[in-house]
Amino acid sequence: MNLITNRAEMNQLSKQLKQNSKSIGFVPTMGFLHEGHLSLVAKAKQENDVVVMSIFVNPLQFGPNEDFETYPRDIERDEKLAKNAGVDYLFVPTVKEMYPTEMGSKLTAIKRTNVLCGKSREGHFDGVVTVLSKLFHIICPDKAYFGMKDAQQVAVVDGLINDYFFPIELVPVETIREIDGLAKSSRNVYLDASERKEAPQLFQSLTLAKNKILQGERSIENLTLFIKRYIEENTSGEIDYVEMYSYPSLEPIERIKGKIIIALAVKYSKARLIDNIVMDVK
Ligand code: AMP
Repeated sequence: MNLITNRAEMNQLSKQLKQNSKSIGFVPTMGFLHEGHLSLVAKAKQENDVVVMSIFVNPLQFGPNEDFETYPRDIERDEKLAKNAGVDYLFVPTVKEMYPTEMGSKLTAIKRTNVLCGKSREGHFDGVVTVLSKLFHIICPDKAYFGMKDAQQVAVVDGLINDYFFPIELVPVETIREIDGLAKSSRNVYLDASERKEAPQLFQSLTLAKNKILQGERSIENLTLFIKRYIEENTSGEIDYVEMYSYPSLEPIERIKGKIIIALAVKYSKARLIDNIVMDVK
């Protein structure tokens, strides 16, 4: 595995790979790798000649009161994990490398962002589409891999790729979970022991709601109430949102029908956890 920190060098390598007709699968991450990230690599390896992973904690997508400074980082461990997973090129730029001068123009994610995390994390998706545009230009991937754990991100990136004609295929990858159902996340290390114990109840509330839908429930109101009550009764977390929309358009729906997402965010003392399920309902 090659470790690259310089964007010009990364771009040069990508161009060489393209000249040699090699397909590039790209896995963007913020590091502190876990099996969720590595499942994206595994899929990228199946479908491409070369896999490029980036590790970059992007300041632009963190709000002023969010955890940019304290976001967990361990580059030595990440390097080993990425190498063992079969990453060919690990691109780890500094903030200065990605933002060498003050930005004179920034991208704004307009659609699909006034709901879910976009509502409570102002500017977050602007930061995401801005950094991804830079990374896409540097790495020139054929396919880019994103986890459905961040389903709104998948929807927003889908819009970015379409709007700006990036010649890239977006590949969504299903959420990898701990044995007890908790979605794997770099931020799970923020949970204390008792929070960690109860956190699987978030996915459990979604699973129970899914079962209700399979049994015929179609009312958004009933399902939202059910999930909220379940979380309140079984966890000490504070609900940020429990919402349901069409997916990936993230438009409001009147009843459960078609491809929909049920998504939630819950705040713990140091962590804010998100989870979702996407279903196609007849
Ligand atoms: P992050 O490092 O949190 O920005 O995540 C990098 C990529 O890994 C994103 O596309 C995430 O959606 C994806 N990812 C994070 N956690 C998981 C998970 N548990 N399962 C699958 N993909 C994940």
